[in-house]
Amino acid sequence: MPTETFEFQVEARQLLQLMIHSVYSNKDVFLRELVSNASDALDKLRLEKLRHDSLDADVSDPHIEIDIDKDARTLTVRDNGIGMSYDEVGQLIGTIANSGTAKFLQELREAKDAAGAEGLIGQFGVGFYSGFMVADEVTLVTRRAGESRGTRWSSRGEGTYMLETVDDAPQGTSVTLHLKPADPENQLHDYTSPWKIREIIKRYSDFITWPIRMLPEDSAAAGESDRAPEPETLNSMKALWARPRDQVSEDEYHELYKHIGHDWRDPLETIRLQAEGTFEYQALLFLPAHAPHDLFARDGKRGVQLYVRRVFIMDDCEALLPPYLRFVKGVVDAADLSLNVSREILQQDRHIEMMRRRLTKKVLSTVKDMMTKDRDRYDTFWREFGPVLKEGLITDSENRDAILAVASFASTHHDTEPTTLEQYAERMKDGQEAIYYLTGESRQGIENSPHMEAFRARGIEVLLLTDPVDEVWADAVGEYEGKKLRSVAKGRIDLDTEQEDTSDGDREKQTEEYAGLLGWMKEQLEEDIKEVRLSSRLTVSPACIVSDAHDLTPALENMYRAMGQEVPRAKRILELNPDHQLVKGLNQAYKDSEDRTELAETTELLHGLAVLAEGGQPKEPARFVKLMTDRLERAL
Ligand code: ADP
Repeated sequence: MPTETFEFQVEARQLLQLMIHSVYSNKDVFLRELVSNASDALDKLRLEKLRHDSLDADVSDPHIEIDIDKDARTLTVRDNGIGMSYDEVGQLIGTIANSGTAKFLQELREAKDAAGAEGLIGQFGVGFYSGFMVADEVTLVTRRAGESRGTRWSSRGEGTYMLETVDDAPQGTSVTLHLKPADPENQLHDYTSPWKIREIIKRYSDFITWPIRMLPEDSAAAGESDRAPEPETLNSMKALWARPRDQVSEDEYHELYKHIGHDWRDPLETIRLQAEGTFEYQALLFLPAHAPHDLFARDGKRGVQLYVRRVFIMDDCEALLPPYLRFVKGVVDAADLSLNVSREILQQDRHIEMMRRRLTKKVLSTVKDMMTKDRDRYDTFWREFGPVLKEGLITDSENRDAILAVASFASTHHDTEPTTLEQYAERMKDGQEAIYYLTGESRQGIENSPHMEAFRARGIEVLLLTDPVDEVWADAVGEYEGKKLRSVAKGRIDLDTEQEDTSDGDREKQTEEYAGLLGWMKEQLEEDIKEVRLSSRLTVSPACIVSDAHDLTPALENMYRAMGQEVPRAKRILELNPDHQLVKGLNQAYKDSEDRTELAETTELLHGLAVLAEGGQPKEPARFVKLMTDRLERAL
């Protein structure tokens, strides 16, 4: 096949431009990225050979090799791993399939300035392409294990790349960087210097479980002597999780995190756990400092890596942690599993189940520690991962209390600082029995809702819940430490009894007084409303809509519908404020005249306004607007 020239996909071209003109100060990391890819390729080969013994591949000495040519100013990173086929090279290297990278580019365009761009590179990392930070041309030669012919890819990063088939490629992949001219001002970044390479590998890739070798500087000269030149192994290959704690530095943990988490930033927290006995394992887990872009994507990466006695078995092992901890990264190394273990087997294994429970508890207790010892860190954690963790309130009843204990919420108590339930409980008023909350789309929307009026007037704290998942768990959980969780928009709220300045007599009198109007209004609104009653929620507004304690909220109804589920539209309750002039006037009009045409219209308008106030839409917006306009006109 002749050499073919291809155009980079638009996104890929943008990314390359960015790398070439990179302002990212820490260019050394390109080597970590290439070594990381090589290490993955060796893992993949080992697994494929394990699954398909017939695979015609050389697995005798898996390793990574770094080769420097000072005169030609090239640096080559070579592995004898799985390699890539012709098509794979085109797919994997020529395009940016990764949706995260596309998102990265979009944010990059929005960032505009250099500092913003640097921060973004740090956030996403861009793998193979980072080679273009230090090279003006990159060549990749690869042959997929089991195939006879190889592929050569090369590019100067300027919009096109070349692909050709080659006959004599060794199994695996070698990436050669044609380094940019040396900068006499900046000797520190001379990537043809062996000590520089040694230093970078030690710093970023020491834990890689395959040997990373460097050929001696002047192989040709050394070759003249009797002995063949001995390559030098640069990394210790020690699995960090298997080393005594006091012998591993924080930096080393962080580099491991970056390798397995595909993150360029430090983690927020490192967790180590060791289990001995019948089922032995070691775990090294990390809580990232930032939520990944695919946290809520259906096909997003989830779970930690599984090793068996230091041998890598699989990525994204979802059996090791529950779905609501899918953002946790790390390694679990189990002593007594078969190397051939499959995902299906793991899902059913009793020991794995026990391990998952223990790891879950450990993660939650770590968050709890963070909360008490370092509130700022905890706040960062909760801001990033709270919405996911709260899924556990619905799915993991065993740990419900532990999750509630580490949860925090926006509240009317403070404009910006979230509160824990424990703190809320401490502030509860004498006689207040429930913890009150209201769900909605935004803090502002909730705070201005009529349902809040009486609570505000009486200084009772309300939690303001704005994550979509809040609608679901708040209902499911029911209580915290014996205190009921109650929505201020649901059921009857009788704050007066809690205040002990009850005037039951007054209320009864009022109900009698309004009985006729309430019954009549209910008939008028029958299609949407199952009850009209007097409210103790309201101080300023004339009316509001509430749900029964066990009804779905409208937001939840919509959520189910969006997921394609049939749910009947629940009728709601209209509550009136008997102290409001408008409501008083309505009652008078009801009593004064048998002709209620006008009153029927007012009722419809009042209902529409209450729906609007809770963020909903009147059933027939056009009709509502017309009625309203007529009224305004008459009022002039
Ligand atoms: P990432 O490593 O984040 O997926 P890269 O751009 O670094 O992104 O690599 C893209 C893909 O190319 C990898 O996922 C892998 O499938 C393939 N690849 C890269 N380097 C190698 C290699 N040395 N051997 C085999 N495949 C590789």
